[in-house]
Amino acid sequence: MGGSIFAAEFQERPYWWEAAEPPRRDAALPARTRVAIVGGGYTGLSAALTLARLGHEVVVLDAERIGWGASSRNGGMVSGGLKVARGPLERNFGPERAAEIARACGASFPFIEELIAREAIACDYVRSGRFVAAWTPRHLEALAATRARIEEISGLPARIVPRAEQRDFLGSDHYHGGLFAEGAGSLHPGKYARGLAAAAERAGARLVDGVRVAALSREGAGFRLHGSAGEMRADAVLMATNGYSRGGPMPWLARRLIPVGSTIIATEEIGEARVEALFPRRRMVSDTKRVLNYFRPSPDGRRVLWGGRAGFGLQGLRAAAERLHAMMRAVFPELAAVRLTHAWAGQVAMTFDHLPHLGVEAGVHYAAGCQGSGVAMASWLGHNAALKMAGAANAGFALDGLPFPARPLYNGNPDWILPIVGRWYRLRDHLDRIAA
Ligand SMILES: Cc1cc2nc3c(=O)[nH]c(=O)nc-3n(C[C@H](O)[C@H](O)[C@H](O)COP(=O)(O)OP(=O)(O)OC[C@H]3O[C@@H](n4cnc5c(N)ncnc54)[C@H](O)[C@@H]3O)c2cc1C
Repeated sequence: MGGSIFAAEFQERPYWWEAAEPPRRDAALPARTRVAIVGGGYTGLSAALTLARLGHEVVVLDAERIGWGASSRNGGMVSGGLKVARGPLERNFGPERAAEIARACGASFPFIEELIAREAIACDYVRSGRFVAAWTPRHLEALAATRARIEEISGLPARIVPRAEQRDFLGSDHYHGGLFAEGAGSLHPGKYARGLAAAAERAGARLVDGVRVAALSREGAGFRLHGSAGEMRADAVLMATNGYSRGGPMPWLARRLIPVGSTIIATEEIGEARVEALFPRRRMVSDTKRVLNYFRPSPDGRRVLWGGRAGFGLQGLRAAAERLHAMMRAVFPELAAVRLTHAWAGQVAMTFDHLPHLGVEAGVHYAAGCQGSGVAMASWLGHNAALKMAGAANAGFALDGLPFPARPLYNGNPDWILPIVGRWYRLRDHLDRIAA
């Protein structure tokens, strides 16, 4: 391939920020509040919206800008519990508890659809469905084994697509067929973050940016938050810092979360007809590789956005972008000469049991660990954390108070281990395909 893959106007910045960059706010830090939420992404904003609607005074603090983290950087693929449905739930929890957890995850999808409609959030939401592409024939068998569970969790059809019909779902022969789940959608993550923030504000929440909470200390029955721009007293605190929890005021939480970088590239505009040929009906796509790829058309149908865990062991966004471009070329060879206008990265939070968690530790509430699939789930976790804090939950929430595993010697810093795991996973992907 001749020439650079980077367009002259290439920027190391989220494509989403062209339409919806998280704005700066000049709100002052109040001296006290009833509920303080640390972290202004989907989790914190959704919690703030619910708490404010229930009549509670609530302040959301973000170290950067409201919506600055994963919530304005992600792929915008909306699904409820697809990942959980494919995980080892029954082995870990037994059939009954597993079913409860799966239902609790699946409920995130109708929740976000309802939330977007109710709050009239203009975020290009479409129930597009998701094609999960099988990297090997064995992966297709594994997908077939989870199909019924995905239908059960989502209440919407899911079907196995043999390789011979794959082109109805994806303009490529790179994969061995896949699973198409109707219970999935797509949105513009930046617009969703902005709309959720506006909804929380309309409901009465105060959003304060530029305040990094460094420490929490007990003060009577409540807490004092020690921030970079002053202090605030709160009766209750919710930690909603997810993939950015490291070095924060709750080391207990950071030790249970593995922050993993995820990177996305955006191509220059290639025209709606070409995009439509690659993504029939503009569906979302992800694959079953250990080092996962996820890709989609931009909401206006003119570009390809390609994401993956490309950063493992690589220095700099350009190197990660080159790796993603190579993956994109392998799937869509016709895009070999297409250049990139944007590349950006953000942090997701994995957990040792592959589940999201919500609970209370030493009096501090937390909601985190969406496994890189948190558009619906983080919004849902935040809502449930808020109901719990307000004492307004009608029934128990299956993800609340689950044992939250840590690992000896892991202190929340995965920097030394991730490159090794990344290389190992890439090798395993390669071997799987050779053995297929
Ligand atoms: C590149 C990428 C692609 C993704 N793609 C998808 C996808 O297609 N579909 C999907 O469902 N999910 C996807 N995800 C995951 C999804 O974006 C996250 O699960 C979700 O946004 C998490 O929301 P959150 O509010 O919990 O965390 P975040 O949005 O990350 O917010 C955490 C906030 O906490 C703030 N903070 C941290 N520490 C402090 C402190 N000490 N004081 C004050 N503030 C603090 C940060 O500044 C940050 O704004 C992706 C994530 C990334 C990064």
